[in-house]
Amino acid sequence: VAPGSLRDEARTAFESVLRPRRTNSPVTVLGAGADDLAPGIAFLDALAPGGWAVPTWPRAYGGRDATPDQVSVIAEELARFETPDLYPFLVGLHVVGPTLLAAATDEQRRRWLPPIASGSEIWCQLFSEPGAGSDLANVAARAERDGDQWRVTGQKVWSSRAAYAHRGFLLARTDPTVPKHTGITAFGLAMAAPGVEVRPLRQMNGDAHFSEVFLDDLVVDDADRIGPVGGGWGVARTALANERGAVGAVSAGTGVSTGRVEVLARDRGASRDPRWRDRLAAAHAGSEADRFTRHRARARAEAGQTPGPEGSGAKLRGSATFKGTVELALGILGPSGVAGSDVDALEWRTLFLTAPSISIRGGTDEIQRNIIGERVLGLPPEPRVDTDRPWNEVPR
Ligand SMILES: Cc1cc2nc3c(=O)[nH]c(=O)nc-3n(C[C@H](O)[C@H](O)[C@H](O)COP(=O)(O)OP(=O)(O)OC[C@H]3O[C@@H](n4cnc5c(N)ncnc54)[C@H](O)[C@@H]3O)c2cc1C
Repeated sequence: VAPGSLRDEARTAFESVLRPRRTNSPVTVLGAGADDLAPGIAFLDALAPGGWAVPTWPRAYGGRDATPDQVSVIAEELARFETPDLYPFLVGLHVVGPTLLAAATDEQRRRWLPPIASGSEIWCQLFSEPGAGSDLANVAARAERDGDQWRVTGQKVWSSRAAYAHRGFLLARTDPTVPKHTGITAFGLAMAAPGVEVRPLRQMNGDAHFSEVFLDDLVVDDADRIGPVGGGWGVARTALANERGAVGAVSAGTGVSTGRVEVLARDRGASRDPRWRDRLAAAHAGSEADRFTRHRARARAEAGQTPGPEGSGAKLRGSATFKGTVELALGILGPSGVAGSDVDALEWRTLFLTAPSISIRGGTDEIQRNIIGERVLGLPPEPRVDTDRPWNEVPR
């Protein structure tokens, strides 16, 4: 490593605050089984002065203006060290951050981006509603203008991280008299404001950071509106494209690497059995294909292009790899995987119970296939009967 080079600078910076990675470092991914925010805050806070956690962001907002090549060097160096599960911070770092860089005012970026980069402000995404999931443009939470403020009333659901988030990235209907995609506006709201009620829901893996959020005559300043009035769908599309890439990357990332299953197989004597070896080889091949798909998605993002349909491909592959890997681990563990209380069993069981959700969150597998069908393969679009009619005239 050349003294004074970026690699040298990155390695020195990481060595002073992080521990070297071990193959068998304990795993939590997607916050599964743990709501401990402290390791992530400490990690981001330590990396913040150098802008290392969000290298592509401008320096003025907490990044270091890194080029795609520099990002690769930083990522390679970071991969040598143990990093905590950054799930609580993911919406801020990978969804809200890039969206604010594309759509927010300079004042909003200065106010919101540095605390995201340093881990001091956690964001959640208040998009889905009981009647608006796959058909997100159907959001019904209503924001009505009141001078320099907006009054928001409605219900959100499946809001990950809402139980501990400081800020919410909200989509609300500001004009019900125009077609659904054109009457939506995006906002950044304070979760502690009067009128926000968060009711945690318990998932089958035991997590309860996923909530229903009720908004009752909540006041939001117009200064906290993100993008133009009625321009919320464009903001949401940028956010969703970034989210797909991020979910794909996390689910396929270092957390549940096939390397860990290979270690498990060795420890449990399964690597000598040709049937397990066959499945381990298939998992390894899948994870490599996954890695290349992610590289493609990342290269595009790093070249400053808005993520496109390759994010859908990355998400689909990532979900399949995650599910395949944890099913393989449970198979190797055998009965102790479901009934045992040793550390391996508990860890893999939590991941096993988390895995099905990857095919739903951030847009379901079916929706990703629709995107690929329409935008990559050029298949005829689905019939859509409500896109040209005013939202309030469509029966629901
Ligand atoms: C763990 C988890 C975390 C989540 N976190 C958040 C969050 O933080 N913020 C947030 O806003 N939302 C969040 N969500 C919500 C998530 O984005 C939605 O659940 C998802 O978009 C699906 O919407 P839905 O649940 O309303 O299902 P629906 O849209 O009602 O879909 C039901 C079924 O029908 C299928 N389907 C629907 N439309 C079509 C179609 N056109 N073609 C083919 N099949 C179709 C779907 O694939 C699905 O199988 C989370 C969900 C989960 C499971």
